[in-house]
Amino acid sequence: MTQNIPEHNNIWSATLGLLEMKIPKASFETWLKDTFVLNSKNNVLTIGVSSSFVSEWLNKKMKTQIESAVKEVSSIKTKVVFTVAKNRETPTKTPANIDIKATKKPVSKFNKSNYRFDNFVVGESNKLAYSSALSVATEPGGRFNPLFIYSGVGLGKTHLLQSIADLMRKNSQSILYVTTEQFTNEFVTAIQKRKTDEFRAKYRNADALILDDIQFLQGKEQTQEGLFHTFNDLHDSNKQIVLACDRHPQYVDFIHDRLLSRFQWGLVADIQSPEIETRAAIVLKKAEQANIPITEDVTSLLATLYTHSIRELEGNLNKLIAYSEFSGVNINLDLAKLALGLDTESYNLPITEVSPEDLISIVAKYYKISVEKIQTKQSGRVSEPQKVAMYLALEILKLRY
Ligand code: ADP
Ligand code: MG
Repeated sequence: MTQNIPEHNNIWSATLGLLEMKIPKASFETWLKDTFVLNSKNNVLTIGVSSSFVSEWLNKKMKTQIESAVKEVSSIKTKVVFTVAKNRETPTKTPANIDIKATKKPVSKFNKSNYRFDNFVVGESNKLAYSSALSVATEPGGRFNPLFIYSGVGLGKTHLLQSIADLMRKNSQSILYVTTEQFTNEFVTAIQKRKTDEFRAKYRNADALILDDIQFLQGKEQTQEGLFHTFNDLHDSNKQIVLACDRHPQYVDFIHDRLLSRFQWGLVADIQSPEIETRAAIVLKKAEQANIPITEDVTSLLATLYTHSIRELEGNLNKLIAYSEFSGVNINLDLAKLALGLDTESYNLPITEVSPEDLISIVAKYYKISVEKIQTKQSGRVSEPQKVAMYLALEILKLRY
């Protein structure tokens, strides 16, 4: 072969045309659409790509397929090499070369200053806790005093507590939001410095006391005593008290009875694990907050992968955003599977060639468990590998449930 760029441009566009028919659309758009010929010498075709990430990926996953497509088009056996380069001809914004950093805000958006009612997604699992929280924030010291919210970890207690504080502060009320740890430290320091009167005054003068994670009162007898008096002061003057705990009061046996009974004077509301629709809505909300466009298939993948805490959802989304930023590739299902380690060896196979058995064995291999284990129900529960296999069967093989 000689260096004849126009001709090789034609060969490359024909190759791309062929590949476009053979591989999933999202893969094509992510990895190949914006590639171009840099030069061609001695049967080596050098292709420009937008980032080293794309180049690595193409090398690892598609090189053979690409080379055979080139051969099919040109009838010449050609080696294909990928190099990071800017395409001078088409500096347009495409998924592969868009400057993500310029359009996306940093990921650190999931922080406490963003915990408000308007970005809390309400579903069947949390609607009691949500509506009672909203109610105490708008009418503090009313029927639900104290409000006791409990749930497993990462299901939104702190988010709701912060939302109450946020709304009440906006209504010019003075709020003491403290973790049980802070409360304990302050109280112990007050005793040591003989300033319990100041401590008491500070808490008594607040419009609301919001105390997070009261399970940490375990073993802190003196602090419980301090909280008992604070509680009485506030409650007597119709000031709102909100408590969060990792379990129902019935199971909080380490707290002194007289304190525990007060905790149940108002309303006890739980938050359950969210349903898939709520999870999907949360993913969308978080992506929107981070100003990241996200597609429906990626949303449902993230919602499906959840096992017990919303923090996991956020963690996976963060991982995806980071991947997208360092690779310069916009988020899509392809990238998501890669980022979340779901990228399988079946990748280069045309979809019709992947049988359900292939799929199961790939998932089994990924989780390092046996095929039988995926195929059998374990004590009536669906395990994560089973969920993933079902998801892939539905999404990729378009199998029925
Ligand atoms: P907990 O205090 O129960 O351990 P958090 O309130 O810290 O849980 O929630 C963990 C993460 O999940 C937070 O980033 C929070 O914003 C998010 N989260 C939980 N539930 C929801 C929801 N319903 N809508 C939006 N985000 C949620
Ligand atoms: Mg919390």
